[in-house]
Amino acid sequence: MRPFALAAAAALLLSGLISGLLAGPAAAVPAPVPAAVSAATGTVVAKYQTKVSAALYAASTGSTRLATVPADYTLGTKTNRKSPDGTRVQVQYGSRTGWVLLSKVTKVSLSTKIGRLSWAQSAAKNIAKWCRGVPVSTNTTNRNMATMSVSWSGSTRTVKTRIHLSTITGWGTKLDPNHKMAVAIQYHECGHILQYRAYNYDPAALDRAMNQVYGRNGTEHMADCIADVMGAQREGVYSTSGNTTRTYVAGYGGTCTSKHYAAAKRIIAGSRA
Ligand SMILES: [Zn+2]
Repeated sequence: MRPFALAAAAALLLSGLISGLLAGPAAAVPAPVPAAVSAATGTVVAKYQTKVSAALYAASTGSTRLATVPADYTLGTKTNRKSPDGTRVQVQYGSRTGWVLLSKVTKVSLSTKIGRLSWAQSAAKNIAKWCRGVPVSTNTTNRNMATMSVSWSGSTRTVKTRIHLSTITGWGTKLDPNHKMAVAIQYHECGHILQYRAYNYDPAALDRAMNQVYGRNGTEHMADCIADVMGAQREGVYSTSGNTTRTYVAGYGGTCTSKHYAAAKRIIAGSRA
C-alpha cells in the first residue's frame, strides 16, 4: 500500500540498418488513397476490409484488373452482390465499381470508416491477438519501445502501457506498417507488454527473471524470442533497388534456443518464464 510512482521506459529496439547504401527510391511506400464513396451516389449496405493488397477486378469473372487496393483498406458495397462462383464480392473503390476476392477481405462493421487504416491502426491490428487495446503511438524519429507506468491512489493501482512505433526506417524511408520488418518490431514491442503483464508490472522482477533464463540483456533477448513465436521474420531483405539491396535485422540478433522458446510461450500464455 505504500504509494509510489514508477515510470519505466523499456527498452529501445534498434530497427536494423545493416547493409545497403542510400541510393535509389525506397520501396514499400503506400499507394495513394482514392476518395471515399460519395454518400450522394448510393447507400453502402456492407463493408469489407482488405487483409492484404487485393486486385480490383472489372467483373465477377475474368482477370481484367482495374486497380490494386492496398492492405487494410475498408471498401463499401452498395449491392453486396457475390460472383456466381461465390469467390468475389462487388465493391466501390473510390469512384470505381469492381470486384474483390472474398478470400482477401474480412467483413467489417458498417461503422468502419471507408479508406485505409492509419499506420497506428494497422500496427494495432497486427498485434491485436496478443496486445488488443494497448494504445499505439507513432513517431518519425526511429524510436520503437513499449512503456509502462504504475501509480497508486491509496491501495488502488493504475497501470498504463503504450507501444511507440516509428513510421520511418533507420534509412529515413517510409516504413509500410505491414512490411515484415515493421511487423517484427511490432511483435517485439508487444512482447514487452506481455512481459510486463506476466511480471505484474514490476520491471526489476522482470529483468531478474529474464536474465536468469536468457543471460545478460535477457528482457530484450526474450522479447525477440516472443516475437519469433508470434511469427516474426527478424532478419531479411528490406528492399532492392537497382543493385542496392537493403537487409535488416529487427531486434538484437540473438539466437533463441528451445528453452528460450518454451519460456517465451509461457510469457505469451500469461505465465512467468
Ligand atoms: Zn525491446
